[in-house]
Amino acid sequence: MSPPTQSPKIRLYVDADLASGAELAPRDDQAHYLRRVMRLGAGDAVAVFNGRDGEWRATLSPRGKRSAVLHVECCLRGQTAGPDIWLAFAPVKRPHIDFLVEKASELGVARLVPVMTRFTMVDRVNLDRLRANAIEAAEQSGRLAVPGIADPVSFDEFVAGLGPDRGLYWGDETGDGVPLTSAITGHKERPASVFVGPEGGFSDAERTPLHALEFARAVSLGPRILRADTAALVLLAQWQTLAGDL
Ligand code: SAH
Repeated sequence: MSPPTQSPKIRLYVDADLASGAELAPRDDQAHYLRRVMRLGAGDAVAVFNGRDGEWRATLSPRGKRSAVLHVECCLRGQTAGPDIWLAFAPVKRPHIDFLVEKASELGVARLVPVMTRFTMVDRVNLDRLRANAIEAAEQSGRLAVPGIADPVSFDEFVAGLGPDRGLYWGDETGDGVPLTSAITGHKERPASVFVGPEGGFSDAERTPLHALEFARAVSLGPRILRADTAALVLLAQWQTLAGDL
């Protein structure tokens, strides 16, 4: 059994409210993971978080052969708000989209917004799978919240929903953009979205309104054309370095 002061290595995201004395019934797959995969027994500790109440230590009581109850004991870390950075992206095919969601979650993205652009090759996005990827990455990376995953929107809907309260930095591989270091000057305190196009890039009909937005900046990521998933992660890492918590 871990000593009470040490954070347990196993972390589980749960829906339930967390408070001292609460009892949680992990889902079947979570109970399977705790008991069969990690071989936890009576009194072993895990950390649980729900994105609202911080991270708590809980101990396991086996129930029958397969299930378990988690007894919530003490708060290990209070909830804190992470950097307000969203990633808008044209969905790409598997496995790249899974990779993108996992890595963006590790990099601390607050919200993922799939945007169906003119050249997007994917017509259906499995939001449940994306959410499962985001949860797993949050558990593994020590985050206190799971990034939100928005319903897919069309490019026009996305642009219509933008406003000056949230800056937009969109990856422009044509060379018309500027490095994020200059684009962000004077705006580091402002919440932001980074936005990348699909394999086929943005169409001219999309580029024009993006260029016209007063609070948006076209960003160049250098002379090489990056895959959409690479471009998204570079933009996120750059924003997190310049204005976030990296
Ligand atoms: N169709 C393009 C490649 C698109 S890459 C071509 O073949 O030329 C997919 C997306 O990644 C782009 O829409 C852009 O948002 C981003 N991206 C890739 N390389 C980039 C770069 N060097 N600078 C800025 N954005 C880039």
